[in-house]
Formats: sequence, structure tokens, C-alpha cells
Amino acid sequence: KAKSQGKNRYVVYTSDLLSNSIEELQLETDLRKALENNEFILHYQPQVCNKSEKIVGAEALIRWNHPKFGLIYPDKFIKIAEETGLITQIGEWVIEQACIQNKKWQDSGMKSIKIAVNLSAQQFFKRNLVGIVKKVLDHTGLDPEYLVLEITESMAMDFDYSLKVLRQLKNLGICISIDDFGTGYSSLSYLKKFPIDYLKIDRSFVKDMMEDHNDVNIVKAIITLAHNLRLEVIAEGVETKEQLNFLKKYQCDKIQGYLFSKPIPSEQFEQFYASLQKNKIIYM
Ligand code: C2E
Ligand code: MG
Ligand code: MG
Ligand code: MG
Repeated sequence: KAKSQGKNRYVVYTSDLLSNSIEELQLETDLRKALENNEFILHYQPQVCNKSEKIVGAEALIRWNHPKFGLIYPDKFIKIAEETGLITQIGEWVIEQACIQNKKWQDSGMKSIKIAVNLSAQQFFKRNLVGIVKKVLDHTGLDPEYLVLEITESMAMDFDYSLKVLRQLKNLGICISIDDFGTGYSSLSYLKKFPIDYLKIDRSFVKDMMEDHNDVNIVKAIITLAHNLRLEVIAEGVETKEQLNFLKKYQCDKIQGYLFSKPIPSEQFEQFYASLQKNKIIYM
């Protein structure tokens, strides 16, 4: 493609690169202050049980309320946070906020919700992860079974280390979920050894499921695989009723996606929860 656009391509490319790196530099500088300035917030995306159609979970997703640029989504700053090492502190903040929030929900009677938190590889490979999670559980008082940590297949690469850490995390009583399942490069052999509870089918498979035979087959295979291993399956990125009906038919356990709700601030989540307790599901 670069060739067909001729020599001009080079100029365009470098100026893009330049403005991108200036923007990134700006974000990097600002990111260092974002935690102490209280600029991060968590949005929560409901996870709905296929059978009961009730909310049984919420994925906590970080957003950055930037003073100049407004709300910034994680795809714009998580990479920078990882490169600068800031992700460890930010990630700790996320775990703590998510637990505080879910403890509040539990105490207010929203008892069915398991809160899921994304872990970056850096957090996972830092030696004190287990200690941090334990500390947060202790001082928030959240019942550990209502916390889910989402890891990715890349964290299965260092098999012995990962097995050790996951066992320690499981011993705290929390749940473990494999996020973006099917998109990594790791072998599947970890599935039989790691103490995991959930597989999350990546959005990329769900997206074209109704048009693409291969994606349908992959989704079916993941559900069967999970159930044979006695794991529960969550589908992410469910946007249409057709996708939902298909996933119901193949007994996917939980559904997460814009069909039910985008990730939303906690107050909105509470309203959505309340409305679902009373009524049948309303498709957005
Ligand atoms: P993820 O963990 O796979 O999260 C799901 C992403 O898919 C979210 O994007 C969510 O808004 C989006 N999504 C959910 N349902 C739908 C749908 O039906 N349609 C479409 N088009 N998208 C949907 P988001 O919030 O922008 O987060 C992107 C990624 O950033 C996450 O992917 C996760 O890897 C990372 N991330 C988010 N929060 C954190 C965090 O606190 N810590 C770390 N380390 N990573 C995070
Ligand atoms: Mg996730
Ligand atoms: Mg995911
Ligand atoms: Mg994903």
C-alpha cells in the first residue's frame, strides 16, 4: 500500500509520527500527575446471566478525565502507562477502587455482582501482586469471591511463575478469568493446570459471528472447551439480538456487550441494576 501511494507517503508518515510522539509525550507528562490529581475514573459494564437475565457481574474499565482533552479511553494511555512503569500504581488504584465500589454495592443489597478487574502483564509479573490484592481485600472488607482478576494468555508464558501466583491468588478466595481468550499465542496446556474460573471469548470472534462460519465454529468450540474443563464462559462485545440468541442456544453462561449496556459510571450502573431487578431486559 505504501508503494502505491508513491513518494509522498514518506512525508505524511513522518509528520504523523511526529505529532503522535508529541501527543504521547504530553500524555506521558500528564499521566505522571493524573493519579495524585484524581483524574482517573472507573466505568462499569454489566455482565448478564444467560439463564436468569439478571446482572451477575461488572467489568471495571478505567477512563482518564484529562483536564484539557476530556475523557480518554484506555487504548490511548495504557500502553504509555506500561512503558513508563506507571501502570503498577494505576493498576493498584483500579483494584482498590473496584473493591471499594463492590463492597458498597454489596452493603446496599446489590449482592449478586462479581467485579472484574483487568491486570496488565507488568502487574502480574511484579512480585508483590498477591500482597497488594490481599491488602486491598483486608481493608475494604470485600468478600474475595466477589473479585475477579482478568489475565491474558500472555501471562501463561512463564508457566511455573504464573502457576505459583495464580495458586496464591486463588488461595485468597478470588476468581480468575482469561480475557480475550483465543487471541494469544500461548499453548492451551495451561488450561488444565491453572486454577481458573472463567474464559472470556474475545470480541473479535463475536463481532462477525453471524456472517462468518469460522467465527461461529470458534465460538462454539470455546464454549464446549470451557464447559468440558468445568469453566464458565463469558462472551464480550455482544451487540445484537442475533448474537445473543446464538450464544443462548449454545449455553454461553454470561453476556457482556453494548446490547445490554456500554461501560457506565457507578450511579448509572445502580439505576440499570435496579431496573433489571424489576423488569425484563430492555434492549438498548
Ligand atoms: P477488555 O478488557 O477486553 O475490555 C473490553 C473492551 O471492549 C472495553 O473497551 C469495552 O468498552 C469494549 N466493549 C464491550 N462491549 C462492547 C461491544 O459490544 N462493542 C464494542 N465495540 N466494544 C465493546 P475499553 O473500556 O476501551 O477498554 C479497552 C481495553 O483496555 C480493555 O479491553 C483492557 O484490555 C484495557 N483496560 C481497560 N481498563 C483497564 C485497567 O483498569 N487496567 C488495565 N491494565 N487495562 C485496562
Ligand atoms: Mg477485560
Ligand atoms: Mg476482554
Ligand atoms: Mg478484548
